[in-house]
Amino acid sequence: MGKITIKGNYSELMKKALNNTEVKKCIVCDGIEGTIIDSHTVPQFILRNISLTHEYKSSYQFELPDVENEKLGIKKSGIFRLICGTCDTELFKTYETEKNYSIPCKEQRILAEIALKNALKKQYDLLLTLNLLEPGIEKHKEVKKVFDYYVSILYANDNEIQRIWDILESGLEDYKIIYKKYLNYKTPVAAQGHFPYARGFEETYKPNECVIPWMNIAVLPFSNKTLVVLFTRNDNTIYEGWIKKFGEISENEKLDVINDMIFTELEDYFIDKDLMADDLLSLRLNDKTSMKEFFNRQIQINNYLEETYKIQ
Ligand SMILES: [Zn+2]
Repeated sequence: MGKITIKGNYSELMKKALNNTEVKKCIVCDGIEGTIIDSHTVPQFILRNISLTHEYKSSYQFELPDVENEKLGIKKSGIFRLICGTCDTELFKTYETEKNYSIPCKEQRILAEIALKNALKKQYDLLLTLNLLEPGIEKHKEVKKVFDYYVSILYANDNEIQRIWDILESGLEDYKIIYKKYLNYKTPVAAQGHFPYARGFEETYKPNECVIPWMNIAVLPFSNKTLVVLFTRNDNTIYEGWIKKFGEISENEKLDVINDMIFTELEDYFIDKDLMADDLLSLRLNDKTSMKEFFNRQIQINNYLEETYKIQ
């Protein structure tokens, strides 16, 4: 029998987890419209703007370089498999059409579509993570704790998907924009995702399974400018104090905060495979990194949203 390497073991566990995460029917139309396809978080028309070769690094490439592939091709970047091709095209067509960004009345729709995409990707990642952790819960107490934590987030995220669905169906304006700006240059990073923002609070904020005040981010580099937007649902009042403080800091500091959020909170950020690999070494996890350290990690990262790092 050959030697079992960490990489071999990891790939095998990941393959199994991926298989177990396989959804048979589109969760939106129940399979009526067609078969499941690879959906993408950051749209491909955006990803093409930041890499000539269309090859990227994402959180997994930076955090787990020993076991993950070195780079991702555009077709494998930020994918989740929960919905069919027809639903994918229909649900996200406002935000995946560049000209809609200059039409003010489309703004809330764009945000809702981004939020839905974020929530669906999160659900897929959570299912995958749970499948990956499951073999370890009998043997390791710590794994069981993390497993239970992710299960509670899964339920909360499921609620969120329903809420966003209702917003999209009713056409209600339901998003509060905390920050929105078009930078007049192209950032090297494209990102989107949602997360419960706890770092801004002094007391540790614990999500409960009914309500998580999700914070949404999208950083979308177009051909010669970049949209940076931070938003949450109008009824998420927990952030009011934080939003007030955030409103008082300088433009650069705001970008700094958003940049930190991208690298500490999101899985789905993308950078050209040849850029900044060394600068982001601090993201790297190793087999000595405990779960606790991972959740509490403080990362010092350059602000890649600043003009200094712009790409042509
Ligand atoms: Zn469908």
